[in-house]
Amino acid sequence: MAGVRSAAPQLADIEPYDPKYIPAEVMISANENASDVPFDLRREIEREVRKLSFNRYPDPLANGLRDLIAEANGLDRDQVIMGNGGDELLFNIALAWGGPGRTFLNMPPTFTVYKNNAQLTNTAIVDVPRRADFSIDEEAVIERLSQGDIDYTIVTSPNNPTGNLVDTAFVERMLQASDTLVMVDEAYFEFSRLTARPLLGRYENLVILRTFSKAFSLAGVRMGYMLGSETVLREFKKVRQPYSVDAVSQAIARVVYAHRAEFERGIELIISERARLLDELGMTEGLTVYPSDANYILFRLNDGVDAGEIWQRLLDAGVLIRDFSRAPGLENCLRVSVGSPEENSRFLEELRKVLK
Ligand code: PMP
Repeated sequence: MAGVRSAAPQLADIEPYDPKYIPAEVMISANENASDVPFDLRREIEREVRKLSFNRYPDPLANGLRDLIAEANGLDRDQVIMGNGGDELLFNIALAWGGPGRTFLNMPPTFTVYKNNAQLTNTAIVDVPRRADFSIDEEAVIERLSQGDIDYTIVTSPNNPTGNLVDTAFVERMLQASDTLVMVDEAYFEFSRLTARPLLGRYENLVILRTFSKAFSLAGVRMGYMLGSETVLREFKKVRQPYSVDAVSQAIARVVYAHRAEFERGIELIISERARLLDELGMTEGLTVYPSDANYILFRLNDGVDAGEIWQRLLDAGVLIRDFSRAPGLENCLRVSVGSPEENSRFLEELRKVLK
């Protein structure tokens, strides 16, 4: 038997992504929207999908969607690019701006996909860790960028899993510090309403990442997009897989985006439920809760309480949340996504029981 030779060496230390998506009665672990796309929109989606020719390749760049998004943001089509989820665009930034001999600046703890993509593409990683309260060490970041050797960086606002926002004035300082490509990952921006969008016209080195997975209830469909300068997006077009965004997903996302105003009420509900969860968790003994501008909340169990055990006991009680207790910088932390009002109440009830 010949066996098989080893995969590329940079894969050796990488764990395959595992969302630990275990079936449970209450699924509040993946920052999804608890509500599905409204019924009337699903009907319209069905009509649109029926019109498609499945034997034909889709429009590679999804120009129909690009135009809708460009118009909503006061931009041209060439300043918008679509991806197979935001995830594809996160991979593509590493392909286009990373690689051997190139460097990515990361601000952990943050979304772990950034680091993985840098490792996969043999990009060097410079970490500027966040402070104990998860705020960014702004001076350290600016100082590091000013050295001039960072090829790209990603700043997440609100940050996942910590929930805190990035100050727009700081983003602008990053953009001015060097010609580093700065991605602002706004996957959760609809829950904070703060965006770096006003800076786009002035800085060629800025790109903004968004997704349909959260506010627009389309995590199962895989659709993300990026706003940026035509010069930068031209490079992203070179590395993307030609047909990464399929015809069915394009049709679904077009209907949803055209009717995005109908999602406003759902977003409002998530924001008010987030406030209730923050209040209730703040009054719960045995833990520290961190402020959040997203659709999830991070909390840390007090010393002497094992977060992994609390996570397991919640799961045994039918409630799945996300365990970060072994992640660097997030020791003994758990993250709960804002679910429906009933799901949130059930979570609070079960959490109080297991903490007793
Ligand atoms: N950025 C952040 C910070 C995220 O949390 C996620 C989803 N987990 C994404 C990007 C990508 O989302 P999607 O691929 O579903 O668009």
